[in-house]
Amino acid sequence: MAPLQPPVPLEGQVLVEHMAKWYGAEGTGVEAIGDLTLEVAAGELVAVVGASGCGKSTLLRILAGFETHTSGVVEVGGAPVRGPSPRRGVVFQDYGLFPWLTVAENVRYGPRQRKASRRKAKEVAARYIETVGLTRFADRFPGELSGGMQQRVAIARVLANDPALMLMDEPFGALDALTRQSMQHELRRIHGETGTTIVFVTHSIEEAVYLADRVVVMTGGPSHGVPGRIEKIVEVDLGPDRDVNATDFNAIERAVADLVHAPVG
Ligand code: ADP
Ligand code: MG
Repeated sequence: MAPLQPPVPLEGQVLVEHMAKWYGAEGTGVEAIGDLTLEVAAGELVAVVGASGCGKSTLLRILAGFETHTSGVVEVGGAPVRGPSPRRGVVFQDYGLFPWLTVAENVRYGPRQRKASRRKAKEVAARYIETVGLTRFADRFPGELSGGMQQRVAIARVLANDPALMLMDEPFGALDALTRQSMQHELRRIHGETGTTIVFVTHSIEEAVYLADRVVVMTGGPSHGVPGRIEKIVEVDLGPDRDVNATDFNAIERAVADLVHAPVG
């Protein structure tokens, strides 16, 4: 469900070419990822799945600029990633909200940091708080909200920075099943509305197939004696209205599961 008109056509593009990541010194440390190549088009929603330890979070942290890669190319929007940027928004499993600020203040924080006027920041925050359906809770503190609501605030906070790229690492992993489903639905809607590129890491194959235009299947990892790598990229040719119980949905799910569980060689 790539939107017709991404906000900034090139800025959300991701290019990773022959990228390797060693923790510790190259050759003697741990090779978490070896020779990974991946292109993500602006406006695309790509999910990354794979067993624990195959390098999913490492890949995301490198794209976020929190971690440096060892060799190869890592570019976002045509420029090498050299560190974190508000244009690359990150949502993790723990919401990372400021507990002493209200919902509205949390969401306004980014725009204010970037020198938006008080009025502009307020306007932007109100818009994204509405996008995630929390207008009634704008003056509450995070501690007064459920986990699902806090995660929606975290998403609004990232959206308020108008990111070209959203990097999400198992963001719904701590939520109960029903909340998780509604968050998945919301994320698809938000993606359709904003056209932001999204790279979404998850353990859940169903979640990946429900959300993504393409599912990147990673395998290997140091605990398997080989660096993490991309096993295959599966196109999800299902259109916008996806039914997790439909035959074609289940067929893609099974294909991804077979790849995730394939013996590492
Ligand atoms: P995933 O998110 O797919 O579970 P990670 O990217 O967290 O995997 O980890 C990939 C591999 O890199 C694992 O073997 C892990 O132990 C190793 N690793 C991750 N972070 C570090 C670190 N800071 N130092 C050393 N090894 C690490
Ligand atoms: Mg991880």
